[in-house]
Amino acid sequence: MSNQATLVIIKPDGLKKSLTGNILTRLSETKLKIIAAKIVKVSKELAEKHYAHLKDKPFFLELIKYITGELHQDNRVMVLIYWGENAISKVKDIAGATNPEEAQPTTIRGAYGRILTSGLYENVIHASSSETEAEREIKLWFNPQEIVFPLYPVEKVTLNNVEMEVWK
Ligand code: GDP
Repeated sequence: MSNQATLVIIKPDGLKKSLTGNILTRLSETKLKIIAAKIVKVSKELAEKHYAHLKDKPFFLELIKYITGELHQDNRVMVLIYWGENAISKVKDIAGATNPEEAQPTTIRGAYGRILTSGLYENVIHASSSETEAEREIKLWFNPQEIVFPLYPVEKVTLNNVEMEVWK
């Protein structure tokens, strides 16, 4: 098996509960390399694109409120790319089952997740489920220059008349 990249998101409940360190420690058991990381304020648009495949599910609206931080009054997530052999299954195994009550207690979701009385799965972490999904998600959350090496082909473009904030 060759090296793979996988996207991990520590969801707003993870940050709100100060679990970031614990989760990163658990993920370090995989011995994979972190090749990109940042804190992101998640817009509704980004959330809807990330979870586009679930848009017909009854829990979709709640899921968007969850990942954008509306439910936790904390709109931060931490996004990371882990890279190495079998990265996708290694991270998925340590993340645990989607339903935190079905997740093994030794997994991240089993240890830190819960189901709210509203039915929402507060499962602390997202992990890519396949190479195709990982590529789609990584391209959605990261620009090429934020990753320590070019994971996917890039092209150079020159942007004119683009207004942006730079440090004074
Ligand atoms: P994942 O790959 O294990 O995160 O699972 P999915 O991609 O199927 O679902 C994405 C996210 O939607 C999950 O992590 C949960 O936060 C949420 N979710 C999935 N299935 C359910 C469900 O049956 N009920 C609720 N309330 N949330 C769900």
